[in-house]
Order: sequence, then C-alpha cells, then structure tokens
Amino acid sequence: MVLDNKKIKSFNEASGIYSYYANKKNILNEYGEYEEDISDISIANGISPAYTDSTNESLVANELYSNVDKIKFDSRIGYYKSLYIGHVVEGDYRKNASSGGIGTWIFKELFEKGLIDGVIHVKEDKSDNGKLFSYQISRSIDEIKDGAKTKYYPVELSEVLKIVKETPGKYAVIGIPSFIYGLRLLAKKDSLVGEKIKYMIGLVCGHQKSSAFADFMGWQLGFKPGDITYINFRKKLEGRKSSDYGIEVHGYIDGKYEEKISPTSELLGQDWGQGWFKVFASDYTDDVFNETADMVLGDAWLPEYTNDSGGNNIVIVRNPVIENLITDARNENRLKLDAVDADKIFMSQSAHYRHTHEELVYRLYKRDKEGVNRPQKRVNASKNIPFTRRKIQDMREFISISSHVYFKEAVEKGDINYFINKMLPLERKYKNYYRLEKLKKIKISKIKSKILKFFTK
Ligand SMILES: Cc1cc2nc3c(=O)[nH]c(=O)nc-3n(C[C@H](O)[C@H](O)[C@H](O)COP(=O)(O)OP(=O)(O)OC[C@H]3O[C@@H](n4cnc5c(N)ncnc54)[C@H](O)[C@@H]3O)c2cc1C
Repeated sequence: MVLDNKKIKSFNEASGIYSYYANKKNILNEYGEYEEDISDISIANGISPAYTDSTNESLVANELYSNVDKIKFDSRIGYYKSLYIGHVVEGDYRKNASSGGIGTWIFKELFEKGLIDGVIHVKEDKSDNGKLFSYQISRSIDEIKDGAKTKYYPVELSEVLKIVKETPGKYAVIGIPSFIYGLRLLAKKDSLVGEKIKYMIGLVCGHQKSSAFADFMGWQLGFKPGDITYINFRKKLEGRKSSDYGIEVHGYIDGKYEEKISPTSELLGQDWGQGWFKVFASDYTDDVFNETADMVLGDAWLPEYTNDSGGNNIVIVRNPVIENLITDARNENRLKLDAVDADKIFMSQSAHYRHTHEELVYRLYKRDKEGVNRPQKRVNASKNIPFTRRKIQDMREFISISSHVYFKEAVEKGDINYFINKMLPLERKYKNYYRLEKLKKIKISKIKSKILKFFTK
C-alpha cells in the first residue's frame, strides 16, 4: 500500500476559493476528494488557509467582532453575543433537518426580512456530472428549504463564486470552518465577493469525508458504487436518541430501483473518531467553533438533549442582526432555545476539541519530524500528550489513509469484502488502544484511592 500518496496527504482543503481567484479547475480526483492545482503559491498565500501564514482565525475574528457591542470571548469557542441550545418550532424546519433545523430557518428568516436575495448552500446535484451534492444558490423559500440536511460529501465553492460575482444581489453562505475562514480571506482581496456575501453561517465540522464514504454506505446496503441516486446521511429515527440516527439510500441494485434505510450503528465506518474516509486536510485546522462565522450551528451531543430524537442545535451568535432575528423569534415562540453558558457549548464538542485542537500538536510534531512543509497553526508542535493518546492519534491517521487506498482497490476489484477485510484488523487495533487507556485510568484511580485511604486513616 502506498501510504506516502501526495494526493491523499494534501494539507489543502481544496475549498475552490483559490481555483475561483486564480481561474483554475478544482477537480474531484480518483479518491473522491477535491484537488486544486496550486501552481502559484504567492496567490494561495492570503486566500487558502493551508498556505496563509500572515494571519489566522483569531486575528480575523478580532477584526470582525471585537468591537461588537456587548460581545464576550471564550478562549475555546471564540467571540459570542449569545449561546443557545434548541430547535425550530414553526413550520417543518426541524422535521426536515439533520438537527434542530436552524440551519435552514435562519436563511428563510434573512430572506423573508429582505436582508438577502440568495443563499449559497449545499444541495442535491441533479445534473449529470456524477456528483451527488454541490454548492448551489437558492433564491426562494422553497429552494432554501430544499437544501436542508447535512451532507457528508465533498463540496467546493469555485463555481458558485463565479455566479455570485456576475449576479447582482446580497447573499448568505453556510460552510465548515476552513471554508468560512477562506471566504473571509478572499473578502480582503476580492471586494466584489466580500461586499455581496453579507452573512456567513458556520457549521461545526468533525471532519470532511471523501465521496467514497457515501459509496461505502450505499455498498453495505447493496448499492454498488455509482448506482446511488439519493442519500440522506442523517435520517432521524423516531424513538431513538438523536445521536442514533439512520442513513437512507435510493438507487439501483442489479438494475432494479430500491430504497433502503439502516441505523448507522449497524454500518461499518460510522465511528467518527476512527475517521474512515477522512480528508487529510481536516486534521490540520485548529478552528473547532468556526471562529470567523456570524453564527455557528452544530449538534447538541449532550445527554439532556440527545434523548429527543427530533434533534437540537448548539447555536453561537456573533452578529447583532442575527441576534435580533433570534430574539424576536424566541419571544414569538417560533424557536425553542435554552440560553446556555460557554462550558455547555464546549462540552457538546469536547471530544472533537481534544482531537482537533489539543492533539493537533502531536500531528504537527510528526510532520515536523518528517521534514514536511506544513501549514502554520495557532498551536505549537509537541509530542507531549499521553502515550495511549499518541497511539490513538497514530491509528486514526493510519485508518483514514488506509481507507482511501483500500476502498479504491476494492472498487477496482468489485469486491466490498476486500475493503472490509483490510479495515477490520485496523479497527480492532484502534479499539485495543482505547481498552488500554481505560485500563490505565482504572489503575491510576485505584492507586489514588488507596493513597487517599492510607492518609485519611
Ligand atoms: C461535513 C460535516 C461535518 C459535521 N460535523 C459535525 C460535528 O462533528 N459536530 C457537530 O456538532 N456538528 C457537525 N456538523 C453540523 C451538523 O451536522 C448540522 O449540519 C448542524 O447542526 C446544522 O443542523 P440543522 O438541523 O440546523 O441544519 P439543516 O436545517 O439540516 O440545514 C443544513 C444546512 O447546511 C448546509 N450543508 C449541508 N451540508 C453541507 C456541507 N457539507 N458544507 C456546507 N454546508 C452544508 C445545507 O445546505 C443547509 O443549508 C457537521 C456538518 C458537516 C457538513
């Protein structure tokens, strides 16, 4: 297996912002990941997060929000005016959404109030280009509603940005942290885009997946790669926890149209910690709470909320206009939102924060040891994380890189079991490190309690 594959180990998230600015193509490569032809590093520096070392998310967020009236700051989640957990009450926004539905509702609200003319978001791609989803522009409430739901699928911005530039109007956009930060960088260079995109809504993002993730989910249900026509990665399953969601796939099995639903807990490759099909670049952002976005949405992965299969959002508000829309809607009972503190928001993403922010130091240390030219981050390279955590980090990297390589080989062989048989031993090894970690904790706490007993006698 070629683990040193440069395509798989690219630090560039290939959002398409460079491709738009430099008038280049952003292609979906043979691993199902976007790949930009960065031939001019001097252009990429200042536009692509992976190539920009002159600024960072903290400095850009400072410029945007430090002067906002009554703004607060938390070192983990960044600036915020208010923090909430909850969902949409009005209409069918929550029912049709992945989580609490605020990701679609906020665009409806901005549109209805005349604050925007269009929404740049991710929708089913009905053209004949082999892609299941892409960034598109919605210009009516129905079109906005049609874009609901989380797509764990590669997307890019170069095509829609060209349309935004050519078409008059005010827009709102939604994106993962590196995309929103990239757009903030672009706005400094391209005033036309900067002036037109009025609101940037951010998603929390564990990591991005290659298109092989959708293919593998479908294949486990009987749909061969290329035979999927529709996939819902976040099918709410009534009576189950919101975190115990399902997947729905439509397409062709042996030439016959079929529709299938399965709980994700019964499928391989759904443990987000392991990172099957994770895009390498996702491991090189340190921005968990989309620090340069006007509003941030994620899942309320907290026991007091996950019991409700309907789903709830965590909400971070930084922009005063959005804050007013939310306050009005709460007063009119169109939204059910509990006001919460920074610790609560942080707790809902604590595992994500540990991987993405705290343990990034070790991934940077490894790259430095290899002598690789890697992006500058807000944390410094270090190997000082516990032994088992280093091993878990090593395994996560090995699993995600292996998944890209072995899945491509499995598709070439037409054999899903080839892939599964390669991946399962890696999963077992990964789980063993978790067992070791648990054991270490038990041992340490037993020793601690013995010492305590000794001294309190
Ligand atoms: C790749 C990815 C990883 C995520 N990881 C986490 C995580 O680790 N923890 C967490 O709490 N939340 C995560 N989220 C966010 C979460 O899944 C929900 O999208 C969020 O809570 C909003 O839910 P909603 O019900 O309010 O949105 P909905 O009303 O369902 O609307 C979703 C909106 O997001 C847009 N959208 C969908 N997919 C994408 C995409 N790939 N890129 C940009 N926009 C998109 C849609 O077009 C729509 O406008 C992730 C989202 C994505 C796309």
